[in-house]
Amino acid sequence: MSRSRNTNRLAKKIRAQTSLTLSAASRLAQQANVYLGSSVEDSPNPQQSRLEAHVAHVLASSFQDRQLNGALLGVEEAQPENQGLKLILESNMANEVLRELLPRFDHFYGGIRGVPGLRIRGSNRRVALHDALSSAQVTVMRADHGAMRLPSARDGEVLLWKRVPGVLTRNERQEAAEWADSRAIVDLRVRDVLLSRILRWPGLVNRTAKPHGFANCYTHHSGDLVIEWCCGDTVETLCANLLAHGFADGLPRERAIELISRYSAHLGDRTVILNRHGSCFYGREGEKIAQRIRKHYGS
Ligand SMILES: [Zn+2]
Repeated sequence: MSRSRNTNRLAKKIRAQTSLTLSAASRLAQQANVYLGSSVEDSPNPQQSRLEAHVAHVLASSFQDRQLNGALLGVEEAQPENQGLKLILESNMANEVLRELLPRFDHFYGGIRGVPGLRIRGSNRRVALHDALSSAQVTVMRADHGAMRLPSARDGEVLLWKRVPGVLTRNERQEAAEWADSRAIVDLRVRDVLLSRILRWPGLVNRTAKPHGFANCYTHHSGDLVIEWCCGDTVETLCANLLAHGFADGLPRERAIELISRYSAHLGDRTVILNRHGSCFYGREGEKIAQRIRKHYGS
């Protein structure tokens, strides 16, 4: 199919799924530059999306701007498998992904870090992180197929995943209940679906981290995920790529996307917030920062 027919088709799709005007939808469609084929496969059930959303949320809060080789959440590739999801991790970041995800009580922090209820099985080359309360599961592997190191307790930490294998501790139950029923969040389904899609679509979101090897991601609360970057794709290009692959599929039209300015957009009513600096934020420092990050991971 010709490029212009594709662009027209995408503009119609964007117009149908969002409350953008036809001219805004056409402008976005013209900027889409990545075609991965059909829409990315969604998680098969609400428990699975809830777990994947929590994984994305924890990784965004943990890594912030400490990524290597453009792996925004430490993830290079995501492959749906059976009822779950397989994540191919940036090899140097893989141990830290495990450390951040597995739940532990941190006495200095005064609460739980990681994903409550997450437990492990499998080998150290292919670790299955499963939810103790449901069949939801995310499998992780290093991109170089090497072995991963399971985290050991740091000062002030109690490793809950190791201490109580089959059940949740009281603190974990409380934390899991808060994630599943955050009163401040209007639509938990939208949060779970969109954050799960962020995790399932590294080929698109990692483009924000590509020019420098890292980008900034963080969260304000349990209902959002922010991505901030400078060079590379514009906000409209990223939005166009996401919408082209079905990022807004099944969302209420009026909440699908809001273009705030040339440098900012909200998806799913501020569930995913995209901010791009107007000029390069790092300049010549970019390479030095990347080297410091590399040193941090010991590579
Ligand atoms: Zn830059």
